[in-house]
Amino acid sequence: MQLEILSAVQLGAMIAKREVSCREVSKYFLDRVHQFDSIVSAMVNVFDEATVMEQADQVDSRILGGEKLSPLAGLPITIKDVLCLEGLPTTCSSKMLQNFRPPYNATSVQRLIDAGMIVLGKTNMDEFAMGSSTENSAFFPSRNPWALDRTPGGSSGGSAVTVAAGMSPLSIGSDTGGSVRQPAAFCGVCGLKPTYGLVSRFGLIAFASSLDQVGPFAHHVEDLAAVLQVIAGHDPRDSTSLNVAIPDLTSGLNAPLKGLRVGVVREHQDHPALDPEISKAVQATQKLLQSLGATIEEVHLPNSRHSVATYYVIAPCEASSNLARYEAAHYGYRARMTTEASSKSSTSGRNPLEEMMVVSRSQGLGEEVKRRIMLGTFALSAGYSDAYYKQALKVRRLIANDYQQAFQKVDVLLGPAFPTPAFRLGEKIDDPVQMYLGDQFTVEANLAGIPAMSLPAGFTRDGLPLAIQLQAPQLQEARLLNVGHQLQRAGLFEPKIAGLV
Ligand code: GLN
Repeated sequence: MQLEILSAVQLGAMIAKREVSCREVSKYFLDRVHQFDSIVSAMVNVFDEATVMEQADQVDSRILGGEKLSPLAGLPITIKDVLCLEGLPTTCSSKMLQNFRPPYNATSVQRLIDAGMIVLGKTNMDEFAMGSSTENSAFFPSRNPWALDRTPGGSSGGSAVTVAAGMSPLSIGSDTGGSVRQPAAFCGVCGLKPTYGLVSRFGLIAFASSLDQVGPFAHHVEDLAAVLQVIAGHDPRDSTSLNVAIPDLTSGLNAPLKGLRVGVVREHQDHPALDPEISKAVQATQKLLQSLGATIEEVHLPNSRHSVATYYVIAPCEASSNLARYEAAHYGYRARMTTEASSKSSTSGRNPLEEMMVVSRSQGLGEEVKRRIMLGTFALSAGYSDAYYKQALKVRRLIANDYQQAFQKVDVLLGPAFPTPAFRLGEKIDDPVQMYLGDQFTVEANLAGIPAMSLPAGFTRDGLPLAIQLQAPQLQEARLLNVGHQLQRAGLFEPKIAGLV
């Protein structure tokens, strides 16, 4: 039986009824990891078979013992290497953390384990989650399973690939400016960024703390709901974690969409960079929603054109502060200081400790990470912070206000997730501004703190996945999932595994 095309919820029900064991399911997906990872390079570290089987056997005996577990008990999952997990290194795809072994699990990861899920391993990413192509990994770029010469997107590229290639039914990643939704869009899978604060950031290695959120990848919207149900919820160890009751995210999935008010953002749909095939996919989705009883309205986000500039001030500012902790004295990569390098300290005016830090950070961090640290440090420096950082905070508020206004008229927003389908490996890597501009449709949800989801929407003439994005007001994940699930049922997309054999 081909397990990779079943929904995780379906597969979980089969495990619960003991039609298939957790051991069999785990072995099946681990074998696919071993079979395909040499082609797509999605994984940074994989648990060995004995460790995976040990996890699986434990869940099997809990099920046999009659313990009532979550609907996802026994299902394999992969975890972006930005989330702390005991038993493997947590590298953030950086040389800086290559040997970092966290002594604890991130709260989101711990909740998945407590729910009886089987962790297969850690997925590749852009270093410290900075990037849109996974090419900024210090180790290797990942490949898009639909076209191996193209990027799977980023920064959670490896996570999207493991789901797209059927190496794991589920994955979790982080989304600071689109890093779950954009790779999901490039790889033909579903990806969700929750409301800021809904999922704990404890154990998520910080990039830009006011924007970072953890979110799931899956082939089925109902599976996104099931994973979110497990990982969402208040955590006293994250001071920005929302202390709100988490509604049942699965019970409303089948609610009819009659009367739903859908807004189409003019500024997105008319954007000059928007690929015509993606624009068409948005229009087709609009028609499908109308056929399900929804009404369509045009809405405006007048400050939308400032979103990339705003994000690329705020995110680097926060990153420059967050990444200051990797100073090589307490932890992180430490350069071996040659006598030549040490003697440089006398000429540079730095003492040997400072020189060691400078050399370690120079060697341990990649180009893009250094670029962001310098951008952020500049934008925060005396005399400039009012003009850049504080100004960006004000524009962030305007962008959030635009959304608030829009959501007075409509229940959800429909638009593109990314201006183009997956681009080629190497195509933008030497042009950071081009790389940044691609993020225009995703960063807004992070700036406004609202939930957003990308869904597959067919394929281009060349066979590349197309995608659309849905956005909802804060804490309206259930609504977003309901709309997504109905669209999937109505045929917007069928889960497809990229064929690699
Ligand atoms: N591509 C964006 C960036 O490079 C978003 C990254 C993310 O969401 N982690 O910052």
